[in-house]
Amino acid sequence: MDVRRIVVVGGGTAGTATALALRKAGFEVGVYEAHPDSAEDIGAFLTLASNGMRALAQVDASPAVTAIGFPLTGMRVLDASGAELAQVPLGEAGDPLLQYRCLRRGELSTALQAEAERRGIRIRHGARLASVEEGRDTVTARFTDGSTASGDLLIGADGLSSTVRRHITPTARPGYAGQYVFYGYTTRAPLTARTESARITMVRGSAVTFGYAVSPEGETYWFARVSGEQLAADEIAHGTPAHWHDLLLPLLRKDVTPAADIVAATAEQILVTNATEIPLGTPWRSGRTLLIGDAAHAASPATGQGASMALEDSVILAKSLRDAPDAPSALSLYETLRRPRVEHNITVSGTISRGGHPAPRPGTGQGAPAPRPGEDELIRLLEWDSDIWTTNTPGSGKPAADSTS
Ligand SMILES: Cc1cc2nc3c(=O)[nH]c(=O)nc-3n(C[C@H](O)[C@H](O)[C@H](O)COP(=O)(O)OP(=O)(O)OC[C@H]3O[C@@H](n4cnc5c(N)ncnc54)[C@H](O)[C@@H]3O)c2cc1C
Repeated sequence: MDVRRIVVVGGGTAGTATALALRKAGFEVGVYEAHPDSAEDIGAFLTLASNGMRALAQVDASPAVTAIGFPLTGMRVLDASGAELAQVPLGEAGDPLLQYRCLRRGELSTALQAEAERRGIRIRHGARLASVEEGRDTVTARFTDGSTASGDLLIGADGLSSTVRRHITPTARPGYAGQYVFYGYTTRAPLTARTESARITMVRGSAVTFGYAVSPEGETYWFARVSGEQLAADEIAHGTPAHWHDLLLPLLRKDVTPAADIVAATAEQILVTNATEIPLGTPWRSGRTLLIGDAAHAASPATGQGASMALEDSVILAKSLRDAPDAPSALSLYETLRRPRVEHNITVSGTISRGGHPAPRPGTGQGAPAPRPGEDELIRLLEWDSDIWTTNTPGSGKPAADSTS
């Protein structure tokens, strides 16, 4: 199976970053995005961790992303009485390109899409995938408007409710992870909450896990994670800020922290989602089709790693296709390298969302129920110029010393 032309379905974090990486590796790539524009989900924000920022740097996309959002260099932890439990630096706080970054989800997609288009990658908006047809030599995406796109490989980067996943594994469904999550913004937070700078504050409340960070412009970004039965789709779709205040404020007022006042000051739209996760072991591949990002391994938001994991996917997939002797070997290598790490994240994040503590791995004292690459190994895997095939395939023939180009 020879791969030159690649169809990417989904123009979110995973799809656009993968298009950038594949183009850099020399492939012909087109992105097909359902939404007519890129401003979907402007309501939610996320943090890109240092590992995600490192992946972006490998595809030369740091300038596009550091132009938006704001950096986070430290984290403060408060208990339910408002007492400070800890203050720690976040990730690679000293490196402006690798610092954690807080940004709106829609802004990230828009920035990555603009960067892809600037590099000549075609992004077709309004192309909603209906079905996938696998042929012997090609794979074809069929869109709801009747148009089609064919390639040697189709990458499903179409998120949590992936249509591509239904083609690969019709019975796999994301499951509820035990918490629903609120996201909001306010410029009217009390002054004490606004004097923070480049720092996220996590509040371990008695009923709610709360987090907030303040942008340089003085806007407070906050989230609240609440354990319980999942919310009905109808309630999520029609809930007003007043309705969410009624639900959240009594839970937050039990504690003496800034959380309740921040939420009370939020008069604008509040976004609410049920935290969901993909079951471990969900198949990612069939024939000429592969899932990446949330479509393959969405996790509950507790570890805040979903977007960063999607960015790691993009670099490791492009390097695998670039360096392996053939596409089936590349896809196998990709899955071997990625599955332990992303499933570890699903497990740890799900455990936190369900109110547990990640089980310590014997001898390390750290939560790690499944094996995963260590930090040094991850850096090596992401490093664009290292040959991912020879360094990860014993007996591949090429000595590791020849592996940089
Ligand atoms: C509310 C919320 C908060 C989050 N907070 C964090 C955080 O703090 N840190 C973090 O790292 N991650 C966070 N995440 C997770 C993070 O957003 C995702 O893990 C990340 O965006 C994954 O990117 P993706 O491209 O795989 O999926 P998505 O960003 O969902 O992109 C999928 C894209 O596919 C398109 N699409 C869907 N169906 C079709 C179709 N049939 N045809 C064509 N296109 C289609 C969609 O329109 C979308 O643009 C959060 C997620 C949510 C929902």
